[in-house]
Amino acid sequence: MVEQVVVIGAGVYGAAVAAELTRRGARVTVVDAGAPGAGTSSATFSWTNANGGKKPRAYHDLNVGGMEAHRRLARDMSGSDWYHEGGNLEWGGDDAEREELIRKVDTVLGYGYEARWLTRADVLRLEPDMNPAELTADEIAYFPTEGWVEPVRLIGHLLSNSSAEQVWNDAVVGFETADGLVRSVRLASGQRLPADAVVNCAGPQAAKVARLAGLDLPMRNRRGVLIYTAPVAVSVSRVIRAPRVDLRPDGGGRILLHTHAVDDAARVSATGEIAVDQAAVDKVVEAGCALYPGIRAANIESVRVGERPIPGDGLPVLGPAPELSNFYFAVSHSGVTLSLYAGGLLAAEVLGENHTEELAAFRYDRL
Ligand SMILES: Cc1cc2nc3c(=O)[nH]c(=O)nc-3n(C[C@H](O)[C@H](O)[C@H](O)COP(=O)(O)OP(=O)(O)OC[C@H]3O[C@@H](n4cnc5c(N)ncnc54)[C@H](O)[C@@H]3O)c2cc1C
Repeated sequence: MVEQVVVIGAGVYGAAVAAELTRRGARVTVVDAGAPGAGTSSATFSWTNANGGKKPRAYHDLNVGGMEAHRRLARDMSGSDWYHEGGNLEWGGDDAEREELIRKVDTVLGYGYEARWLTRADVLRLEPDMNPAELTADEIAYFPTEGWVEPVRLIGHLLSNSSAEQVWNDAVVGFETADGLVRSVRLASGQRLPADAVVNCAGPQAAKVARLAGLDLPMRNRRGVLIYTAPVAVSVSRVIRAPRVDLRPDGGGRILLHTHAVDDAARVSATGEIAVDQAAVDKVVEAGCALYPGIRAANIESVRVGERPIPGDGLPVLGPAPELSNFYFAVSHSGVTLSLYAGGLLAAEVLGENHTEELAAFRYDRL
C-alpha cells in the first residue's frame, strides 16, 4: 500500500501532483534542488490551450482536460486570481498563414472546441489599444476558452493548500532500490527519505533524475526567450498571436512578448552562461510596439530564458516505469496547460486508480 510519496521537483507538475496526493490522504514530501517555482515554470508563456488540433486526439483531449481543471480550481478555490481566461486572438500575415489558420479552426471545431471568426471592428472592441493597421479586415480567429496562468502563484497556492512536507535547496542525488522497487530517496544534504513511491517532476532535469534510478528518458529540451516590459498603461486583455509577435499581459501592468524565432537567440557558453542576442530581442519589441503603439513608453524590464522539458517524441510521459514500478514520471511540454489535470490523474494512479483510458498514449515504455 502506498502511504509515503516523494515528489521530485516543485514546478507546476510537482505542485499539482503533491496537492492531489495529499488531498487523497497520502503523506508526501516535495523536494526541490532550488526554490519552488524557480524552474521552467517561472520562465514560460503559460498560455492555456488545446489550440492547433494537437495530435494524437488523446493529446488534444488531455489539453482540454487541463484547461477545464484550471477553470474548475479557479472557480472552487478562493484567491485563485492566478488564472486569466480572456481568450486568444490569432490571424495570419499572408495567404499561406491564413489558409493554415482556416485549417486549424476547422480541425478544432471538428473536435468540439470553441473557436469563432471576428472582424477588425470586433477585435478593436476587445483590444482598443491595438493598431488597426496591423489587423486584417476579417478572418481573425478567437478562441474564447483559452487564457493564461501566473504559474508561480499557482504553485504557491497549491503547495500552501496541501499538507505536503517541503524540502527546498536540497537536490535528489540517488535512490536505494530493491526487488524492482524504489525504497528511499537520497538528498545532497545526506538526508534519506523512505518512499513507497516517487514521482519524477524534475522538468528539463527529468532525464538526469531518471538516470539516478538507472532509467533512460529520451528528451529533446528546447530553450525559449521571454521578454518582459516594465509596467505600462496599455490595455492588453488576453493572449494575442499576431503574425510577427505573441504577447499577453503579465500582471502589474507588464506585458510579455515572445516569438518562436527569438528562441534561437539564446546562446549557452562553454561554461554554461546564457546570453541572448540583443538584435533578436529588439525585433520582437519593435513588432510589439507596432501592434500596440503604447508599449513604446515602456522599458524592457527583463529577458528570461526558460527550458522546455520535451520528451523524445514530443508527447508527455505520465505513468510508471515498468522495470521500477513505483517510480513514476510526470514530464511534458505545455505543462502549464496540462499539469493540474495530468498531474491529478497521475497522482490517482500512484494511489492505485487506473487511468489507462486517458493516459495510454503517454506511457514511459513507448519511448
Ligand atoms: C519559452 C517557453 C514557452 C512556453 N509556453 C508555454 C505555454 O504557452 N503553455 C504551456 O502550457 N506551457 C508552456 N511552456 C512549457 C511549460 O512552461 C513547462 O512544460 C512547465 O513549466 C514545466 O513544469 P515542470 O514542473 O515540469 O518543470 P519545472 O518548472 O522546471 O520544475 C522542475 C523542478 O524540478 C527541480 N529539480 C530538477 N532536478 C532536481 C533534483 N535532482 N532534485 C530536486 N529537484 C530537482 C527544479 O529545481 C525545478 O524547480 C513553455 C516553456 C517555455 C520555456
